[in-house]
Amino acid sequence: MKYIFVTGGVVSSLGKGLTAASLGTLLEKRGLSITIQKFDPYLNVDPGTMSPYQHGEVYVLDDGAETDLDLGHYERFTNVKLTRLNNLTSGQVYQTVLDKERNGDYLGKTVQVIPHITDEIQNRITQLAEHSKADIVITELGGTTGDIEGLPFLEAIREFALEVGPTNVLFMHVTYVPFIKAAGELKTKPTQQSVAKLREIGIAPHILICRCEKPLDAELRQKISLFCNVPREAVIEEMDVEHSIYEVPLMLQRERLDELVCRYLHLETPPADMTEWQDIIRKLIAPRHRVRVGVVGKYIELQDAYKSVYESVIHGGIANDCGVEIVKFDAEQIEQLGAEKVLGGLGGILIPGGFGERGVEGKILAAQYAREKGVPYLGLCLGMQIATIEFARNVLKLDKAHSTEFDPESPHPVIALQEGQKKVSKKGGTMRLGLQACQLKEGSLANQLYGSLLIHERHRHRYELNNCYREQLEGKGLVISGTTPDGTLAEVVEVPGHPFYIACQYHPEFQSKPIRPHPLFKGFIAAAHVYMHQKPIS
Ligand code: GLN
Repeated sequence: MKYIFVTGGVVSSLGKGLTAASLGTLLEKRGLSITIQKFDPYLNVDPGTMSPYQHGEVYVLDDGAETDLDLGHYERFTNVKLTRLNNLTSGQVYQTVLDKERNGDYLGKTVQVIPHITDEIQNRITQLAEHSKADIVITELGGTTGDIEGLPFLEAIREFALEVGPTNVLFMHVTYVPFIKAAGELKTKPTQQSVAKLREIGIAPHILICRCEKPLDAELRQKISLFCNVPREAVIEEMDVEHSIYEVPLMLQRERLDELVCRYLHLETPPADMTEWQDIIRKLIAPRHRVRVGVVGKYIELQDAYKSVYESVIHGGIANDCGVEIVKFDAEQIEQLGAEKVLGGLGGILIPGGFGERGVEGKILAAQYAREKGVPYLGLCLGMQIATIEFARNVLKLDKAHSTEFDPESPHPVIALQEGQKKVSKKGGTMRLGLQACQLKEGSLANQLYGSLLIHERHRHRYELNNCYREQLEGKGLVISGTTPDGTLAEVVEVPGHPFYIACQYHPEFQSKPIRPHPLFKGFIAAAHVYMHQKPIS
């Protein structure tokens, strides 16, 4: 078993997660099996309770774990199926240690950061190694070297490396080499200092991934090598990508990162065959078709709040050899200006998941516009609840129809809590979460898109379509084309006769990858192309 630890220096947002994921891609393409794990030093038990403003998207796994969005990159870039063992927070570590303490498991000892917290962190690495049976465990440490809360994690991996021996472990440090405009130069000092900080803790990185806007020349590479005590070949340039994040694996392959990693870890493998990946990049850079779609949300100004949704839309484009321009709309703006004015000129409208009342009326207007004008519509989770509310208000003429999340007193609660959810008082991990089966209706649009009748999708929500209104909704033409296999919960709704109007209670965006675009997104982009250009993609 081999271990790679990825740390970050100088500043946050360097794309450590993408780097770890891209290394994962390359190692898999060399025939190795891998798994990737993220350590987050904050004290929340998981990000499920955090606002998108704090954290960006919460990424949900098959087993229902609510995790960091970097796990989304790991799954999109590789073939690994992650579980809750793949994301560890300080909150979880402390929770485990404190539970053990209350149980008397420490037999009267003083419980301390070293060794008890650090041991628990190491346990998690070993647990994942055993559970995944992968050849290589890649562990990414969240935060930046020098953060106080990250120290126990660094100490833990230092000790762990000692335990598993030098040929089995690699430290990779992602650092920043800023370009200073006034001097017209790239500067290596921040990198030197961040490596010095790591060495102070007892970790000497083997490989430096240098994030930069301009290429590193031979002289700079030599300088970084000398001052940071790594061989020249281990100074890897990772420039800002021009077109797409999916270029990163190819860029790192050109820098021979995967070859170096295998050599250092004594792994004999053939080179990575990246043909499939190159084809994806070609479709992203020079697509044969183009389309513009709108995403109507509440956290539109945040880059990370709908990460998996934006990626999945792009995958839908890859599947159609179609470049997608994503235009982001603030739902509140639609409330002020009206849907027609804001949403004209789009090939399709997508409403992603969300919580809380702000912007909901704007989203309802967007769904109505899409339904009435025949604009392709894809609703995800809240986007399905919105579609249902809109249909109830404007087709069933129940003008006060709403979700009890937003109007607990609504006379027509078409979206409401199930009995079981009503009793729930704790917030963490208590929604309908994770992979669940869904039965599709034969001949429905959903059935055509998936090409099967039984599907499995990931969930993260509390409210459901209220069964008391099913008959009325269906009576007026809304088709409930997907339900839980026992038929009790609605999972997919669609409007027949419309070119493409489909919405699901689950989150398909958590299972789409560039090499395996999700059928709903593939269908959405194809329909958007037809709507925008009046002709199908041939
Ligand atoms: N707020 C809604 C619910 O809890 C939708 C959640 C979501 O879109 N993820 O049911």
